[in-house]
Amino acid sequence: MFTDLLRIFFPSDCVSCRKSLFKGEHFLCSSCELLLPYRELNADLKGKLTIDHVNHVYALLNFSKKGITQSVLHEIKYKDNLKLAHHFGSMTHKLVNANYDLILPVPLHPKKERKRGYNQALELAKGLSSISSIPINKSSLKKVKHTQTQTKKNKTGRMANVLDSFECSKINASKIILIDDVVTTGSTLNECVKTIKKNNPSIEIDILCLAYASL
Ligand SMILES: [Zn+2]
Repeated sequence: MFTDLLRIFFPSDCVSCRKSLFKGEHFLCSSCELLLPYRELNADLKGKLTIDHVNHVYALLNFSKKGITQSVLHEIKYKDNLKLAHHFGSMTHKLVNANYDLILPVPLHPKKERKRGYNQALELAKGLSSISSIPINKSSLKKVKHTQTQTKKNKTGRMANVLDSFECSKINASKIILIDDVVTTGSTLNECVKTIKKNNPSIEIDILCLAYASL
């Protein structure tokens, strides 16, 4: 009865364990919130990934199968939970310790974006932009080739799959953040950086991801 009453006033469930949330809890219950696998703030992933011509690669959370990060990513990617994306996007602000001119979300192919209804990387970018006041540029970097999902591919397969799948025009900035939801081998991000650098050779790029998943 008491729980039913609470549900009337606080109707959301924890995105991970699905228990009802109490007042003051947002998206995750206190127990799940405590278990979020935050990475060390300055732990640069650059050495673990094959991404050339980038200054730093940071991720807020570590990913493990069936872990809380997976629930969060699933909500953001497949469950239209844009508020959660904005929330975690703003959390990535902790990883930003330099001055940037622009945030570029990793684009989806327009067909895929239409099907999903949104681009989760852009939603993360909105959260980061709202708290940092760094403007978003979503028009210069475009995905022009429709590719298969990277999930079931190994490192070489991932590289081949995304090859030449992006295009980028001239960007009026000297230092930018490229943002995405998850980084695994870095194939997609490497391809983005390569493409951005083609028309913007002197631009400095840092990468921020919500999560790092080792393959
Ligand atoms: Zn929970």
